[in-house]
Amino acid sequence: MHKKLFIPGPVEVRPEILAAMATPMIGHRMKEYAELHGRAKNKLKALLETKGKVYFATSSAFGVMEGAIRNLVGKRCANFCNGAFSDKWHDVTLRCGKQADAIRFDWGQPVTPEQVEKTLSTGKYDSMTMIHNETSTGVMSPLPEIAEVMKKFPDVLFIVDTVSSMSALKIPVDELGIDSCIFGVQKAFALPPGLAIFTASEKALQRASTMEGRGYYFDFLEFDANDAKDNTPSTPCISLIYALDSQLDRMFSEGLEQRWQRHQALADHVRGWVTARGFELYPELPFCSKTLTCTRNSRGIDLAGLKKKLGDAGFAFDDGYGKIKGQTFRIAHMGDMTISDLDELFAAMIAIMPELA
Ligand SMILES: *Cc1c(COP(=O)(O)O)cnc(C)c1O
Repeated sequence: MHKKLFIPGPVEVRPEILAAMATPMIGHRMKEYAELHGRAKNKLKALLETKGKVYFATSSAFGVMEGAIRNLVGKRCANFCNGAFSDKWHDVTLRCGKQADAIRFDWGQPVTPEQVEKTLSTGKYDSMTMIHNETSTGVMSPLPEIAEVMKKFPDVLFIVDTVSSMSALKIPVDELGIDSCIFGVQKAFALPPGLAIFTASEKALQRASTMEGRGYYFDFLEFDANDAKDNTPSTPCISLIYALDSQLDRMFSEGLEQRWQRHQALADHVRGWVTARGFELYPELPFCSKTLTCTRNSRGIDLAGLKKKLGDAGFAFDDGYGKIKGQTFRIAHMGDMTISDLDELFAAMIAIMPELA
């Protein structure tokens, strides 16, 4: 039996998108591929509100997150860490042999513009990484306010992971001055995993051109040279790019404003449901994610038991990530989810635990 996914990635993929992946294969050096690539890329530029470069990498998000470090970190990197994925990005930075510091916030807290300003004012850094939406804790950091601070530090490259937020709310890459915006497609984009998308500003490409040890697979300059022909350095996941192209059409036919409003309504619905039942939200309300809700297990319910029974009933449920597993649970409301999908989950939860009614 298929378990309907309410976990924060991968998420449910619509049947017509899965069907797009069954499009007959083409060669990636054929003109048919360049047409597909160019078409999807132009739609992405509209969605991301960027006139800069947009590239496709066949990998999970962490492939490009590592690539960005290898291509863009020269002197020293400030890794802002407020959860498991941002902690791991710091670890990746060190594993790439780079000089870096982790600037840590307690789990459940956002990255703050004040701390970004204080850190970068030391003059020690030429690059920074942050995660817009920390999927491990359900925290969305205030990207526009941080972007304002970043304008004071034009020599520091602004590298942002939007894996679990891109397309769920407005993230205008150029206006925010993001030098490299990175996301995988299995979360907010509701595609099967295996494709990562990233942008590079002029400044980012300039930096990359001065860097040694970029490697090959994630060399931004290789991506850039191939981009001119609407192509990729090595064979891409063509089936997924068909799915991406179809999914972008769906997003534009839904309407971006409508999509953002739907995500706000989903977030409000889940927050309302859990708080009405005596659970507390894990982050403070202004920093609660719009794409997943991380909730404290304030009532001390048997989350592992609930997860197991929900699984038997056909629902994949998440009982917390890393060090807050068991103390929190996360309900994803990203991608193409609707209020009625959530109500189906809530009904199943109540059927298993009548005290949640
Ligand atoms: C899931 C996730 C990642 C890791 O993505 P992979 O595709 O598994 O490499 C990175 N950052 C965030 C915010 C995530 O949610």
